[in-house]
Amino acid sequence: MPAPEKIERYELIVIGGGPAGITLAKNLGNKMKIAVIRPEEHSMIYCAMPYVIEGFISIEKTFKKDELVTDSGADLIRGQVNEIDFAAKSVMLSDGKQFKYNKLVIASGAIPFIPLVEGRNLNGVMSFKTVDDLKALKEFTEKKENPKQAVIVGAGAIGIELAQALNATGVVTTLIDMEKSILPAMIDPEMADLPTESLIKKGIHVILGAKVKALSGSEFISSVHLDNGKVIEFENLDSCTVDSDGRLNRIVVFSAGMLPDISFIKDKNLEIGKGGIIVNEKMETSIKDVYACGDCVEFKSGITGKTAPGKLATNAVPMAKVLSRNIMGENRKYAGFFNGAATRVYDFFIGGTGLTESLAHKAGYKTVTGYSRSTTQFPIMPDAKTLDIKLISDIETGRLIGGQVVSGEPVTDKIDLLTFAIQNESTVKTLAELSYSAQPFQSFFPAANALVMAAEEILNKIK
Ligand SMILES: Cc1cc2nc3c(=O)[nH]c(=O)nc-3n(C[C@H](O)[C@H](O)[C@H](O)COP(=O)(O)OP(=O)(O)OC[C@H]3O[C@@H](n4cnc5c(N)ncnc54)[C@H](O)[C@@H]3O)c2cc1C
Repeated sequence: MPAPEKIERYELIVIGGGPAGITLAKNLGNKMKIAVIRPEEHSMIYCAMPYVIEGFISIEKTFKKDELVTDSGADLIRGQVNEIDFAAKSVMLSDGKQFKYNKLVIASGAIPFIPLVEGRNLNGVMSFKTVDDLKALKEFTEKKENPKQAVIVGAGAIGIELAQALNATGVVTTLIDMEKSILPAMIDPEMADLPTESLIKKGIHVILGAKVKALSGSEFISSVHLDNGKVIEFENLDSCTVDSDGRLNRIVVFSAGMLPDISFIKDKNLEIGKGGIIVNEKMETSIKDVYACGDCVEFKSGITGKTAPGKLATNAVPMAKVLSRNIMGENRKYAGFFNGAATRVYDFFIGGTGLTESLAHKAGYKTVTGYSRSTTQFPIMPDAKTLDIKLISDIETGRLIGGQVVSGEPVTDKIDLLTFAIQNESTVKTLAELSYSAQPFQSFFPAANALVMAAEEILNKIK
């Protein structure tokens, strides 16, 4: 009788090859026997996907090199884990392979959420995360037949960037959100006014305050029904339903949030919340030697201390760094999500961090807000552009709890400075005392730093 095949054992197995999995491999690959398991041919730079559609970069540019994992000494295993036996400390792949682990990290990310509305399985209804989604959309924009129509559901950063990309290729584009303003998790309505105007001016149909109730069509999507009674009908149904090779000339893309990709975990001993696998500050799960990080976990806001959304690469990577150090025996803690994030709407660079005013109110804070309008360079300089800032503070403690920037130039430097202030529990008073730099090409006059001015406005209000 042939001897039973020996199951390979790793000191650490990481399920998932996204930013979290790659960070773990980079930090631990040369320190222990580790394997990263992921199904896809290439890990991807998701943030850059809209720019493939717009034609700025090729699809290949969004593929991350496998060497990011393997150069550290980690093994990269192509495969889909479809079962974990926590008691036996082993993982089973869909191709029948099995591996044993001493420690396991689940970093399986998230998948787009498509609401359970009627018609969600019609042809032409899709989401935007995988290479197949990207290829399908790219192909769609390159088809010769016109008109092509797209409805994007969700005006968060992904939906907004995708809408601009599709519009740029000549697709008749409609953007819908159930909230009353765009980018609702990033900026408050009054900060969204100018960017929304620019979407409309560029020809994007923007419908706010309406939820998709149903999708209809026989086999292919033909209309989108909203809860305000409006129906978006796709035109030219007779002539352009599908072209000869069966591809559509109309699509509905859901970019309405993400759900943790954890359906392959069946064992009820692993504690799971609405937002994903529940972990403590050390990224430990409810099962010994099993950790989780990145988009597949549920975690808390670093401000409120309560469970909060935070499915961003800029959260996944720091979580994986904390976990890497803990696996090496340190005792690091992840403080929580602050959600500094940025996007672009045509000429406007937009960013937000911490809580918006409306999220702060939902979390029970009484707030005072401060605004400033300035320019990105000395106003006498030829390329000076408008810069708007909004700060949100907690009236009781004076703590800064949120900040938003809308500007004609990139904003991530200002957003990161504000995040640093929020992370360190700075008060508006300390922000008003900020020691800053100024130069004609790079800032307003020395006398008027926009962040300081917004902080001063808050101080004046609470005097
Ligand atoms: C279009 C788009 C734009 C974005 N833009 C930004 C941005 O500008 N800034 C930002 O911070 N974030 C952005 N994000 C979010 C960001 O990409 C995610 O937060 C980040 O990728 C999360 O990293 P992760 O490693 O936790 O999960 P993921 O990157 O989702 O990786 C999960 C990995 O696990 C694998 N996996 C899942 N199930 C299994 C299984 N059963 N077996 C084996 N492997 C499995 C997946 O195949 C994948 O390799 C964007 C996302 C999208 C879709």
